Amino acid sequence: MNKILISACLLGDRVRYDGQSKLLDNGTLETLVSQQRVIKFCPEVGSGLPVPRPAAEIEGGDGSDVLTNQAKVITRDGRDVSNYFIEGAQQALALCREHNITVAVLTGISPSCGSQKIYDGSFRRKIRDGDGVTSALLKQHGIHVFDQHQLEQAFKQLAEL
Ligand code: SF4
Repeated sequence: MNKILISACLLGDRVRYDGQSKLLDNGTLETLVSQQRVIKFCPEVGSGLPVPRPAAEIEGGDGSDVLTNQAKVITRDGRDVSNYFIEGAQQALALCREHNITVAVLTGISPSCGSQKIYDGSFRRKIRDGDGVTSALLKQHGIHVFDQHQLEQAFKQLAEL
């Protein structure tokens, strides 16, 4: 049966920058987990960033711009962590390829996992259109990326494979 990639924080792993999770309570997701059809991953921890870690936002573009070195991921204290975010995205893509995954549910707004909407780089909680780095790379390779508010759409896509 087809598998799905899910952000680790949505499954309760305390891997967010502030050491918290963003646990989803969903029966279908629990069923998929019990069927061993869920691959969970945190691109930021996967690439070696610690927990907790400084908040980061994309400055000068979105995730697709980071992948072409036209924008940077900068921490609140001014450190360029773009390479970690690109490495995490590549690890997520490798996981999708290993497990033949074409559907992902990734946490909204995150500079890695956000899709369609991300913070704008000002650290003022302002949101702009665009994808996080991992979402951008997965989309470039034909993977359908949804956020946690689009679970039903993601499950429908999975069922149609
Ligand atoms: S990088 Fe993605 S999986 Fe990791 S904590 Fe952030 S939103 Fe969750």
